[in-house]
Amino acid sequence: MVEVALITGSSRGIGLEIAKRLAKVGYQVVLNGRREISEEVLEQFSNVPVPVAQVTGDVSNFDEAKAIVGEVIDRFGRVDILINNAGITRDGLIMRMKEADFDDVLNTNLKGAFNMCRHVTQPMLKQRAGTIINMSSVVGLIGNAGQTNYAASKAGLLGLTKALARELSSRHITVNAIAPGYIETEMTESLSDRVKETMLSQIPLKRFGQAEEIAKTVEFLIDNKYMTGQVLEVNGGLNM
Ligand code: NDP
Repeated sequence: MVEVALITGSSRGIGLEIAKRLAKVGYQVVLNGRREISEEVLEQFSNVPVPVAQVTGDVSNFDEAKAIVGEVIDRFGRVDILINNAGITRDGLIMRMKEADFDDVLNTNLKGAFNMCRHVTQPMLKQRAGTIINMSSVVGLIGNAGQTNYAASKAGLLGLTKALARELSSRHITVNAIAPGYIETEMTESLSDRVKETMLSQIPLKRFGQAEEIAKTVEFLIDNKYMTGQVLEVNGGLNM
């Protein structure tokens, strides 16, 4: 039986690296983003043992999230792994932050994960097995000026992770979170050089992380069935 891994927000960045790693070792990977996955990205999967699939849809919308999971079940009959990775930022100091900036970030990062967990739980309960991994952030643990919305969403994910881990543990479904530090992707590319330099000076390992290092952590969590309700920090020592 080929296990099915659904990775939200996997058209680029961390999600794409996770998808590549899981596809390489033989999972049926299902890519997701709000937009169609580009040919250029799909080409990166040309040599994997099981051809990848894609299901587009917005995780922040309850019904679309239901449709995403529904399509995966229709096509493959199961879903073994859910990686809630889709995320956005709308940074700004609170005095200037628009209400929509707060709502959009919470709706994607936190409610999006809830929506996906909500719809994936039934098939996983039937299977009596499953792995859910939520992509939090170091910012959810230690905060960051200018990111009240993002920090709240990522801290909220940790509560969701632990509560759900307790709910689903009797059915052998594990729920964990990863809290990456500064990882080089499009999301972080837009930061100014000054902000980047300040961040670098605070990281004990004196470098930014690579998406591949998060993908390795995902693989470890999938393989380790005796871990649940945990937060794995991958941040070069930024928080210790
Ligand atoms: P990117 O901005 O590079 O990629 C984000 C992905 O999410 C894209 O595939 C995007 O595709 C998708 N996406 C965004 N909104 C939605 C939505 N509503 N529904 C479905 N898909 C969506 O981000 P990163 O790779 O940098 O980050 C991935 C995750 O890791 C995020 O949750 C982020 O918060 C977290 N993280 C990142 C860190 C970093 O330093 N990069 C540090 C800590 C945590 P599309 O635009 O087509 O929808």
